[in-house]
Amino acid sequence: MSKIKDILEIMRGFAPEDRTEPDFEDNVGLLVGSEKGETDKVTVCLDCTASVVEEAAKKGAGLIISHHPVIFRAVKRITDEDITGRAVLAAARNGISVYSAHTNLDFCDGGLNDYCAFLMGLNNVRPLKTENGIKIGRIGERDAVKLSVFAAELSKTFNDERVGIAGEDVEVKSIAVVNGGGGDIELTELARHAGADCYVTADVPHHVLMYARDCGFPLVVMQHYTMERIYIKKLVGILTDEANKRGLRVSFEASESECCPISGRIYD
Ligand SMILES: [Zn+2]
Repeated sequence: MSKIKDILEIMRGFAPEDRTEPDFEDNVGLLVGSEKGETDKVTVCLDCTASVVEEAAKKGAGLIISHHPVIFRAVKRITDEDITGRAVLAAARNGISVYSAHTNLDFCDGGLNDYCAFLMGLNNVRPLKTENGIKIGRIGERDAVKLSVFAAELSKTFNDERVGIAGEDVEVKSIAVVNGGGGDIELTELARHAGADCYVTADVPHHVLMYARDCGFPLVVMQHYTMERIYIKKLVGILTDEANKRGLRVSFEASESECCPISGRIYD
């Protein structure tokens, strides 16, 4: 058994809680339960839903570490009427604590953005920095390739059946990436002004697609889930290695009950 507090020290060292996106009012930290308990099993997931909590309970985990905050906006009631309430109630019922990271884990060294850049085969990876110095994304280079070929590679690497392209099928070499919801005009502009040939992200609304096409800056649009879920196994490895180094008796496991929220057949 290990103290939950000692396990959380690993997360806090790797992705410090105060290094989140400042304009975003993020909500990271221990969001449900107590740091005082002990456990020998931790479930790691992208989204802490009631099904993930039930899975963790069956496996005997006393702690869940999620990438997306289990509670994001301020809530005035916790009931079984909504997705947040159901997850929080299930955690409380089963005596499971929930720790959530978020943009701090996106930005940190070895976090989601770095892993995306690695999986994309980028070299010379540098942070894509906002005006306030936040390392919000990454930019790097690879061998020149047609955008459509690059998108097909990403589809295979990330197991994402719905990778789209906005813009001309040009040759790209310098690639910018922001994992997850990076589809706003400001971030698209940040990637363009950093000198990227294209920008890879998810959650891109129609007006940004039109904007990118209009200024001749191609986008590769992935799915938020596939772009980030792939990191969960990587995080399990990072946490396991660090726990071993510290002599903690605890095992980490990626949740098995999560699936892509968009499903259905692909129509030819
Ligand atoms: Zn996300």
